[in-house]
Amino acid sequence: MRAATSAGSVSQDPADLTAARADRSGWPSPAPPAVVVRAAGVDDVCAVLRLAHEYRVPVVPRGAGTGLAGGAVAGPGELVLSLERMNRIRELSPADMIAVVEPGVRAAELDQAAAAHGLRYAPDPASLDISTLGGNIATNAGGLRCAKYGVTREAVLGLDVVLPGGELLRTGRRTVKGVTGYDLTALLVGSEGTLGVVVAAALRLQPIPPGQPATIAAYFRDAHAAAAAAGAVLAAGVTPALLELLDARFLAALDAWRGTDLRARGQALLLAQTDGAGAAADADRLAAAIREHATVVEISTDPASADELLAARRLALPAIERLGRPLIEDVAVPRSRLADMVEAIARIGERHDVVVATLAHAADGNLHPIFVVDPAEAVAGTGIGGAELDATAGDPGAPQVPEAVWRAADEVFTTALEMGGTLTGEHGVGLLKRRWVAAELGDGSVDLQRRLRAVFDPRGILNRGKVLPDPANTAAV
Ligand SMILES: Cc1cc2nc3c(=O)[nH]c(=O)nc-3n(C[C@H](O)[C@H](O)[C@H](O)COP(=O)(O)OP(=O)(O)OC[C@H]3O[C@@H](n4cnc5c(N)ncnc54)[C@H](O)[C@@H]3O)c2cc1C
Repeated sequence: MRAATSAGSVSQDPADLTAARADRSGWPSPAPPAVVVRAAGVDDVCAVLRLAHEYRVPVVPRGAGTGLAGGAVAGPGELVLSLERMNRIRELSPADMIAVVEPGVRAAELDQAAAAHGLRYAPDPASLDISTLGGNIATNAGGLRCAKYGVTREAVLGLDVVLPGGELLRTGRRTVKGVTGYDLTALLVGSEGTLGVVVAAALRLQPIPPGQPATIAAYFRDAHAAAAAAGAVLAAGVTPALLELLDARFLAALDAWRGTDLRARGQALLLAQTDGAGAAADADRLAAAIREHATVVEISTDPASADELLAARRLALPAIERLGRPLIEDVAVPRSRLADMVEAIARIGERHDVVVATLAHAADGNLHPIFVVDPAEAVAGTGIGGAELDATAGDPGAPQVPEAVWRAADEVFTTALEMGGTLTGEHGVGLLKRRWVAAELGDGSVDLQRRLRAVFDPRGILNRGKVLPDPANTAAV
């Protein structure tokens, strides 16, 4: 491997191997992988996948390891293929409104480079500063702006992908329209590193909307009323640029940490933003729709005070982390069922006597119920998922999750499916949700997807045992 790849790319340093055992879901593999290869270019990726295919070595593609589903978790005998060093913006064309990037570029970096031309890269996962675009593409990441501007899939026009065996494949195109052949680009986006390794992407850029956005913060007697107001917003004929819901547990955690008085205004918060030339008038229209459900409604068009209103959303996860180890879940339901799902999650938490806080990308019906595990042990600063492995420490194994939390999570997933929803709106299946996949897709679809995967990866070396329940390796986490 050393001879086939560029100098310094192969590491068996215990710190590198230990870091590759986990992602931000907090679920480490039982033991470290065999080796980490940090690709410096496409040739390295081709060489690794050619040799791995030949010798049947399992490969785990890895971006920044911020995933929340265990997708980048690597274990014994596995080769970790890190794409972080491939981090150049190869081209930024204002005329075509596209950028061509390598997989290790961060969305925030691309957004900043595009801003110099009055453009932006729209998908903005909350991890846009710390995750890679390769990882965002592999998970089809969502973000706050996706309410109006679409998820990652809508921004990807074409991909360069290396297949197991080392063949470089180009999919899609750099035109905005194009329908020649099957849409392999759409298939690869969200495939969680199971079909090929993304080594470059042609991404659509959009003009930065003119003027200042208008921001609304509305408070409610409970989360159900906030979800009902989100429904009223969506029916008001204005698409908000973002629409985020936080429940009472988030507000209490923020008040306790920041000394704010959010709970004096209500037991749930809905944040909405409108943008573009008519932002202020659109915000008035949305505020009118919200008011009949709300206890307090505040509007701002001034950037500084808008930022203050949005601080609650920005600080929500760190606030919850102070209460204990967070297990971040991710389900989505049809938008009309958002209020029902918010209520169902609260009831499930009560029934199983577990602490659960809910935030939602309300415009997408995408909810993140966050179970607070070990609430007695506040672990501020450990990072989401709480698993920061220490190479010098003994094997910590998978962190313990109380059985009641598993039962509650299981009920959340089945309830989402019963409502016509999905197991994961944006974080992916990875390792952690395999056991529920067949319940959503059905056996026929799982079987077809297995066969499709085998066309790309006949020896099953890429992200083995992830995403699809593998009949040969069904060991659930
Ligand atoms: C604080 C925080 C906030 C977050 N907010 C959001 C959010 O708002 N929206 C959201 O969707 N997610 C969010 N996430 C989850 C995570 O950031 C995303 O899933 C992100 O897309 C993962 O990118 P990564 O580079 O860290 O990928 P990794 O975690 O390294 O990998 C994720 C998956 O992609 C595969 N992969 C990585 N790179 C490639 C490649 N080049 N080719 C093929 N496969 C590859 C891996 O094998 C794995 O299956 C958040 C996470 C954190 C910690």
